Amino acid sequence: MDQAPREQPSVGLGLRRGLAGRCPNCGKGHLYRAYLKVQACEVCAHDNTRYPADDAPPYFTILIVGHLVIAPLLCFPFIWQAPTALVLGTTLPAVGILTLLLLPRVKGAVIGVQWAIGQRERPVERPVPLLSEPHAGASL
Ligand SMILES: [Zn+2]
Repeated sequence: MDQAPREQPSVGLGLRRGLAGRCPNCGKGHLYRAYLKVQACEVCAHDNTRYPADDAPPYFTILIVGHLVIAPLLCFPFIWQAPTALVLGTTLPAVGILTLLLLPRVKGAVIGVQWAIGQRERPVERPVPLLSEPHAGASL
């Protein structure tokens, strides 16, 4: 149950609140109860678990790290001239840590955008009755 008055949702507002790890609905409560475990807001009781972020956060995180960090890193001569063990020993931990730091923020941003556009869980799919099955109450 949502008790706090809902501000006019906008993509920018949801994005900012999600990036900050806050509830997109009120901006005050925490979005996570663990590293990536989304929770209902402790302030406004908005159910943030109903937004299916799915594979979007890892996809965008890889996109950001790959294009903004790894690609420019290849322009430095250090990468090509230093011993491989030294390059891998310094860059891989840094890229791994950066990825792990970005992932919850990107997931929050995705959830914030889903909140803003009103996207909810997928509707439960009901089995389609087969044509050969007789309809309930129908007489032959
Ligand atoms: Zn909230």
